[in-house]
Amino acid sequence: MTRVVEQGSAATPVKDFSECDRPELEAAMVAMGEPAFRGRQLFQWLHQRDVVTFDAMTDLPAPLRSRLQHQARISEPALETKQVSSDGTTKFLLRLADGRRVEAVYIPDTPNQTFCVSTQVGCAMACGFCLTGKMGLIRNLTAGEIAGQVRVLARETHLRTSPFNIVLMGMGEPLHNYDATMKALGILADPQGLAVAPRRVTLSTVGLVPAIKKLADEPVMPNLAISLHGTTDAQRDALVPINRKYGLEELMDTCRNFPLRRRGRITFEYVMLDGVNDTPDDARRLARLLDGIPGKVNLLPLNEADGIPFTRPSDARVNTFAKILSDAGVTVSVRKSRGRDIRAACGQLLVEGERRA
Ligand code: SF4
Repeated sequence: MTRVVEQGSAATPVKDFSECDRPELEAAMVAMGEPAFRGRQLFQWLHQRDVVTFDAMTDLPAPLRSRLQHQARISEPALETKQVSSDGTTKFLLRLADGRRVEAVYIPDTPNQTFCVSTQVGCAMACGFCLTGKMGLIRNLTAGEIAGQVRVLARETHLRTSPFNIVLMGMGEPLHNYDATMKALGILADPQGLAVAPRRVTLSTVGLVPAIKKLADEPVMPNLAISLHGTTDAQRDALVPINRKYGLEELMDTCRNFPLRRRGRITFEYVMLDGVNDTPDDARRLARLLDGIPGKVNLLPLNEADGIPFTRPSDARVNTFAKILSDAGVTVSVRKSRGRDIRAACGQLLVEGERRA
């Protein structure tokens, strides 16, 4: 069950405060005849102090708390299951208000603490190596559901007051749910809340070019990661079908023109599939593609899963690929196989769970 903490009667429309940013909460308070600063207090209770019951918000006047119990609610994703890997990676299955479920993952010490959260239930992008893609898009998450995942993970991992990173690399394509994603990042960045600085947030996209260009003008701009996964249009067309609409040349030009912070870089994610995109020629083409782009490559040897028609390359193949990149002057890292014992491939916990049900 979604944790509906406070709720009005069925006859009274209730506002879900978890969907509101701070200005919206201030406006809601003014609309109720209260001073705007009550909205800031509410925001602080919810996002900074992790208090989700109006009764416990003790600096609000008792009559206001009583009214809020009838006229507002605070919902958040409910923890359904949690699986802890031997390496500490923890995968959370979270249930939303309509019973849909999404995954979120805590990845410790990389070297920072990182939360990987979802932006959609399912995904329309249909990447060939991804279980979530096989679900199709079921629905977008709301801003409150995206920010709520972070609140739940911060609570569960006891990291609320510690610095942590957020990666939007869970289920869904964040730029395909643009407005809710950006609103959630604004809520998370608010200094009166969790205050997660944009430089601690990485948004990963398969390459929705118009949305990347729009992102470049945002006041709260996360780091950008491109899920590249192929070095030719033919490869990408097969693995990442959005490439048929926005091809490699257009995507790389957009990256070349993307405004970066000082010393900022774009991360290029590259899932490695045995015999498909992991040859020395691929590595050399990849190095050429990155020419002129301040970037780094994150190699992701495939997390194999039932239903995915690809296999993971040998460590030797991965190392050869990485060395060619490195020799060409490209900064490269290889993802450790985190959480393999807990079905850490995107969508694996959910899809396998539903198969069993
Ligand atoms: S890899 Fe990402 S964008 Fe591609 S189908 Fe999976 S969730 Fe969607």
